[in-house]
Amino acid sequence: MVERHVEARGVHDAAVLDAMRAVPREAFLPENLAEFAYDDTPLPIEEGQTISQPFIVAAMAEALKLGPHDRVLEIGTGSGYAAAVLAEIAGEVYSIERHRVLADHATRRLQELDYQNVHVLCGDGTLGWPEHAPFDAILVSAGGPEVPRVLVEQLAPGGRIVIPVGPDLRDQRLLRVTKDSTGQTNTEDLGGVRFVPLIGAGGFGEGAEAPSQKRIPRPERPIAHLIREACRPISDIGEAELGPFLEQIGDARVVLLGEASHGTSEFYRMRTRITTELVMRRGFNIVAIEGDWPDAARVDHHVRGLDFPVHEDPPFTRFPTWMWRNREVLELVAWLKSHNELIKDPERRVGFHGLDLYSLYKSLDAVLHYLNDVDPKAAKIAGERYACLSPWERDPALYGRAAISRGYAECERPVVAVLRDLLERRLDYARADGDRFFDATSNAHLVAAAEEYYRVMYYGGPASWNLRDQHMFDTLGRLLEFRGSDAKAVVWAHNSHVGDARATEMGAARGEHNVGQLCRERFGDAVFSIGFGTHTGTVAAATDWDGPMEIKKVRPSHPSSYERLCHDSSVPAFLLSLRYPSRDAVREELASPRLERAIGVIYRPETELESHYFQAALPWQFDAYVWFDETRAVDALEPEAARAEVPHVYG
Ligand code: SAH
Repeated sequence: MVERHVEARGVHDAAVLDAMRAVPREAFLPENLAEFAYDDTPLPIEEGQTISQPFIVAAMAEALKLGPHDRVLEIGTGSGYAAAVLAEIAGEVYSIERHRVLADHATRRLQELDYQNVHVLCGDGTLGWPEHAPFDAILVSAGGPEVPRVLVEQLAPGGRIVIPVGPDLRDQRLLRVTKDSTGQTNTEDLGGVRFVPLIGAGGFGEGAEAPSQKRIPRPERPIAHLIREACRPISDIGEAELGPFLEQIGDARVVLLGEASHGTSEFYRMRTRITTELVMRRGFNIVAIEGDWPDAARVDHHVRGLDFPVHEDPPFTRFPTWMWRNREVLELVAWLKSHNELIKDPERRVGFHGLDLYSLYKSLDAVLHYLNDVDPKAAKIAGERYACLSPWERDPALYGRAAISRGYAECERPVVAVLRDLLERRLDYARADGDRFFDATSNAHLVAAAEEYYRVMYYGGPASWNLRDQHMFDTLGRLLEFRGSDAKAVVWAHNSHVGDARATEMGAARGEHNVGQLCRERFGDAVFSIGFGTHTGTVAAATDWDGPMEIKKVRPSHPSSYERLCHDSSVPAFLLSLRYPSRDAVREELASPRLERAIGVIYRPETELESHYFQAALPWQFDAYVWFDETRAVDALEPEAARAEVPHVYG
């Protein structure tokens, strides 16, 4: 973790790197790790606060230029993680946290880990800790409107303060204030960052944590008017005229279809409509979804009428089941099936595939199953290699934890070896059945990616997100290659995967890339990405990871969001082209960044602004945008209903 995420991104101070290696970050994380495997929210701790990313902690510690005897003040103890890192480097650490629960937990954790040089106080850190002043260094882990004067006063000559400062609650500059021997200060700007708000006498007011207290700018009528003029209204999903739109898509090889939630009926139905047009009028022959390979393989077998045996478990039984087990998806599946039945040449039938990597054990079984049939000797060797992962079947995240605390990844080599052996025998095996061999190698790739995923996920930050999107992109690339030079793919995934990450704070502030960006880099104009959005209505989502599906009300969109602009256009549903050079006036108006909403499998309306809105520049993110002002939740199917309707797929 230290080499990959901290050193590689430019932290070189040896004392900081040693400290990062020494502090067991897992001890500061909440028990339930799975949550950040999937969603786009920051790593939450109690009281709606967050634990800082290791890279940020390291970069701030380096900026403080700490010496071994320094006396350090930290504002915002949070989990206590950063305090522990500071304590490894400096002499004494005094840390202040305003939330009692957090201060208590952090104190206990630090005691358990035997950090005797950390002292935690519950109170308002913007007032400093006069009893222990002056400090050689002050680290502020929350963003305030200015540098609190009191903290500058409590700084020793030669001392440094590192603090995020900005008028906006979502966007700050990281500043370093240095005091010289005469008491003069010098301020340097170290770059853009985003922290939770600093609340107190020298920070924001109490209300800053409650979304309702946020500054609300005037609605932007003129832009809404431009949208109204430029868009193509959709009166009925089935009837909408898509001709001009298909013209724009031109000869794209890849069309990316987003969604602004994982549970909105209109998004599914419109994507089905666009997909069927692309298949019929543009020769698209691959549908690739943000679902797991072996699950989608069951659907693929059904729609393409393949005859080799597939995994026997019913698909899409993993949380969030409603994403791919719903009536809207069944309609797509039924359409694909009847479309394919009319195509004689199996090579030209439309396939249905999963790009995601959460099916570690199903995929591993599928590889063994395949080898058992074609090469029992190889199956035995592969079985021994995969056995390395078997103790963690109930919760693969624990494998990640074990690998981290052991200091090496026991299963990395064996899973890669299975994949390598399979690929080496490509010629022998593939001759017998290309599709089946491709299915097996896809599963073996997935196992190798998932093994790594569960290890890096453990540290949060951009690495696990990037690995997952890289895997989805690589799988898409392999699919296109396998289906031949004129293959074309439609991808169904969340906006956060298909919109270009460089146009959002994911890329700009968090160093995350995604399928949309990777496709743009690889295919240029031959990829066309379409974002989807809504103002209000209902959505299927859970409150917590692995929690039950609920039908939740979607809060009306935020006044400074793209969604609100679309709502203000008063067009109930539309398609808006954003690709250069068309629609110059709208493009230009929309290009300055605004908030955009992302509802995932989890939706928490209570903390919507913090957990579901991010900054984006819409025309750089997507080539087109599909809008439904009011939407409703998907029609999820209970397992029995799904089985009864399509036994070949869900049985
Ligand atoms: N350094 C922490 C991350 C802290 S997040 C870690 O490594 O886990 C910022 C923390 O600052 C939050 O816990 C928040 O409650 C706290 N905070 C905000 N304003 C504060 C203030 N005026 N005084 C003390 N703590 C404050």
